[in-house]
Amino acid sequence: MSDAELVLRSTRVITPEGTRAASVAVSAGKIRAVLGYDAEVPSGARLEDLGDDVLLPGLVDTHVHVNDPGRTEWEGFWTATRAAAAGGITTLVDMPLNSLPPTTTVDNLRTKKDVAADKAHIDVGFWGGALPDNVKDLRPLHEAGVFGFKAFLSPSGVDEFPHLDQDRLAQSLAEISSFGGLLIVHAEDPHHLDAAPQQGGPKYADFLASRPRDAEDTAIAQLIAQAKRLHARVHVLHLSSSDALPLIAEAKREGVRITVETCPHYLTLTAEEVPDGASEFKCCPPIRESANQDLLWQALADGTIDCVVTDHSPSTADLKTDDFATAWGGISGLQLSLAAVWTEARRRGHGLEDVVRWMSARTAQLVGLDQKGAIEAGRDADFAVLAPDATFTVDPAALQHRNRVTAYAGKTLYGVVKSTWLRGERIVADGEFTDPKGRLLTRTN
Ligand SMILES: [Zn+2]
Repeated sequence: MSDAELVLRSTRVITPEGTRAASVAVSAGKIRAVLGYDAEVPSGARLEDLGDDVLLPGLVDTHVHVNDPGRTEWEGFWTATRAAAAGGITTLVDMPLNSLPPTTTVDNLRTKKDVAADKAHIDVGFWGGALPDNVKDLRPLHEAGVFGFKAFLSPSGVDEFPHLDQDRLAQSLAEISSFGGLLIVHAEDPHHLDAAPQQGGPKYADFLASRPRDAEDTAIAQLIAQAKRLHARVHVLHLSSSDALPLIAEAKREGVRITVETCPHYLTLTAEEVPDGASEFKCCPPIRESANQDLLWQALADGTIDCVVTDHSPSTADLKTDDFATAWGGISGLQLSLAAVWTEARRRGHGLEDVVRWMSARTAQLVGLDQKGAIEAGRDADFAVLAPDATFTVDPAALQHRNRVTAYAGKTLYGVVKSTWLRGERIVADGEFTDPKGRLLTRTN
């Protein structure tokens, strides 16, 4: 470690081999070595002794709606990436919709990158979008470095991002698989949604009935069939219905190239606790019953669900009306995802190593970011420093995202992020941020 500029020392460093006391040597933004706890600090290197705070790899959140440009009153790169940094996230991948333009052509991607360039406090990558009429744009977007393509199988909530019917899905998936790309899918079947009772109004039970499990289950079954036929790589976004888990488990056993994510709100909030009119809890698919949640945790534990991402999707507060049918659907989770998931994980007997696997290692793998997602030599020196036994009560005023609407207000959570580091630089500590140091990432494999 003779060339180290910085050494981070902790009694609890989470490495791919487990948690141990170690000294992590960093130079030029990279982890050079993970050494013994008592390793000698080279002359000229700065020692950061973190005591018993846990050093974990910065989280990689592959599902974030930044909405910038175009709907920057909802969110923006400056505020979203600050919220992420405050929550221990060092990389995010931005969804192609809710910004104007959506990321559906190479020109639009360029527009988004121009906007993001000097505002990113953490590293930012981009998903492209697969629309009914942009099949010709998919390969150029892939070559321009998007990490894959998002499609909806039911209406997305914004007019400029129409959904794919089964024929269009087949067409887009064939094209994407022809260049080895990844299709990520919002899987709710529009026919099942149409057939469900659309009561409207402030009752959460009515909203839940309007987005039934079988809408998810059917769409996922169709997606599995398409992926199998084309031997294509697909990813199920924000799984909520536990009824789909046996289908997914079987597809995985059969070798279908499918991965699955779920979100902190499905893992930590339940339908039973949502007050009527509280549309800060609205998202699609919806937060379901606590028995459903138990099965999601079981599926994370057994690997049927691969990873946990926020699906941070804010809007202005006025769009969160008390009518669940018309309120904007989306939950803002960037700053709280680690603490929320950790709080519930520890209650259920999981370790922080599990949380790191779900929220950093596996998400980095999903998008092929080999330089992220683990504390080991050669990777980027991206870290979160966490006091896992410390608690805090969620105060919306302390949140960094633009509109401080949150479904977690008043909750007491375990896990205080003391500082976050990006390529060897501390980018936030105790609520104080540096200037933006994030880079824009492109797919490398
Ligand atoms: Zn989303």
